Amino acid sequence: MLFDWGGTLSTSNNDDLLGMWRHAALVLAPADPEPLAQRLLEAEHAWWDERVGVGDGTGSGRTEDIIRSVADDTHLDVLGALAAYHGAWDARVGHEDCAAEVLQGIRDRGWRTGLLSNTHWPRDQHERWLSEAGLLGLLDARVYTSDLRHMKPHAEAFLALTSALGVEPAQCVFVGDRPRDDIAGAQGAGLRTVLLTGRDVPAFDVVPDAAVPELSDLPAVLDAWA
Ligand SMILES: [Mg+2]
Repeated sequence: MLFDWGGTLSTSNNDDLLGMWRHAALVLAPADPEPLAQRLLEAEHAWWDERVGVGDGTGSGRTEDIIRSVADDTHLDVLGALAAYHGAWDARVGHEDCAAEVLQGIRDRGWRTGLLSNTHWPRDQHERWLSEAGLLGLLDARVYTSDLRHMKPHAEAFLALTSALGVEPAQCVFVGDRPRDDIAGAQGAGLRTVLLTGRDVPAFDVVPDAAVPELSDLPAVLDAWA
């Protein structure tokens, strides 16, 4: 059973994206950070839209690419800004309270587990957050699109995870909160799907194999299929 991260295992806390970029802007332009913070936010929105919002998952990249797309003066402290931006997220990332129990329950039922996150953040940061939440050792393989050429809903992203686990897509179930990126994407790659419903995400016309409101409902889905 394979999982999305944001809004699935983790709790979304994206209500101050500009504030996050302000940490980077304060490093790059300490005398007047606000216009740069705004440009960084706009660059991030454009980055997501091109790849996932209107794109089909083709292309990927890293946070550093977004910063460099705005802060193109090579004398600026891009790496310092990157560290400030990533560090600012530490206090805002959280995970579902039931995540460890659910993952353990799924493993107890004989399933292996994996993670596939659409992200421009680096692997190290994600793995540290998962470790601090006690989830890292409960996920047999973790794939972050910042390390890939493509992102969900592109089939290559899903196949990177199934390959990492050494399993066929048809043996897998993908769990996510976004109907297009997670569910339609996983179906396109040949996986079964479970949609976590009721999240504040773009609608898309797709029919998952199961739909439940809470992460804690997943063991019951597997029991019903058994
Ligand atoms: Mg998500």
